[in-house]
Amino acid sequence: MRVTAAVLDRPGEPFALRDVELAPPRPDEVLVRLTAVGICATDLEFATFTEGPAVLGHEGAGTVEAVGDRVAGLAPGDPVVLSFTSCGGCRPCLTGSPAYCLSFDALNFSGRRPDGSSAVSLDGTEIDAHFLGQSSFADHVVAPARAVVPVGKDADLALAGPFGCGFQTGAGGVLNVLRPAPGSSIAIFGAGAVGVAAIAAAALSGCSTVAAVDLNPERLATARALGATHGVTGGGGAAEELRSIAPDGFDFALDTTGRADVLRTAVEALAPLGRCGVIGVGPSEEMSFDWRSVLNGRTITGIIGGGAVPQVFVPELLRLNAAGRFPVDGIVTRFPFEEIGAAVAAVKGGAVGKAVLTF
Ligand SMILES: [Zn+2]
Ligand SMILES: [Zn+2]
Repeated sequence: MRVTAAVLDRPGEPFALRDVELAPPRPDEVLVRLTAVGICATDLEFATFTEGPAVLGHEGAGTVEAVGDRVAGLAPGDPVVLSFTSCGGCRPCLTGSPAYCLSFDALNFSGRRPDGSSAVSLDGTEIDAHFLGQSSFADHVVAPARAVVPVGKDADLALAGPFGCGFQTGAGGVLNVLRPAPGSSIAIFGAGAVGVAAIAAAALSGCSTVAAVDLNPERLATARALGATHGVTGGGGAAEELRSIAPDGFDFALDTTGRADVLRTAVEALAPLGRCGVIGVGPSEEMSFDWRSVLNGRTITGIIGGGAVPQVFVPELLRLNAAGRFPVDGIVTRFPFEEIGAAVAAVKGGAVGKAVLTF
């Protein structure tokens, strides 16, 4: 079928809306008509180096239009959120950790199905798609069933897309991985969409001290509205300010910035036996720490996809959101899909916490 996709022609170029051909779903795949798709930092990062033509986008939400013969538990008309995919057969998948699937990179970042094919063609040639199981900068997508999360008829599909990546990643880092006990202290570095989801989750967990660290005062104000007890301006003075908030160190820290210097500050802000989650991936190839700063029982844990099983965690987060207990709606700004260029500019400029494109 002919569908409209935002195609990246070459690294660093703006997305261009084009008619592309979408193949029908294979036996283990699902055709979804999108209602909305969020823009995540990972899309913008991959757009800087992906050799096009390619379709990115990985926070889709919409309605199932068709399912392959072997797909169980999904039917046309079902409202769904799209998330990352996984193989389902490796040890991490079989033990409930699909975000650590041994084939994660090949399945989510190669642009192709495992057999090398793509469901998306431009001018008769297959192009890279299947980004994080979906490539949802398009009004319809074909996704493997393992990337599809049924969310129930009450879900607000114009809001739900980011629950499949950004919100799941931030909230899951806290709720699934760090698991702070009520009364804990936590410092969260970066108050973008992932960071504020983590902050809301920390507040929900009953953390008594939730310090948000960011360079942008507007983001710090948003962080406070979502449950941060302290806003700390990032940069050279952050370490000292954090020490004044938690003189013995924080029980937990979470880095969403992907910057090695920020991660070092996060680890050094920990109390002995404290635990730091690493979510952000930036240009840094290495992280470095003073020997003694990790010797006293501190733990550094990498986290992918919020450590979540999307089919379990995304509906839970949506229920918490509907109950007003995970109130991330306020950071979402909607744009028509055709205005993807303006939406990207607004995200890059920091004017918008989470942009969602609507179809
Ligand atoms: Zn993402
Ligand atoms: Zn696997």
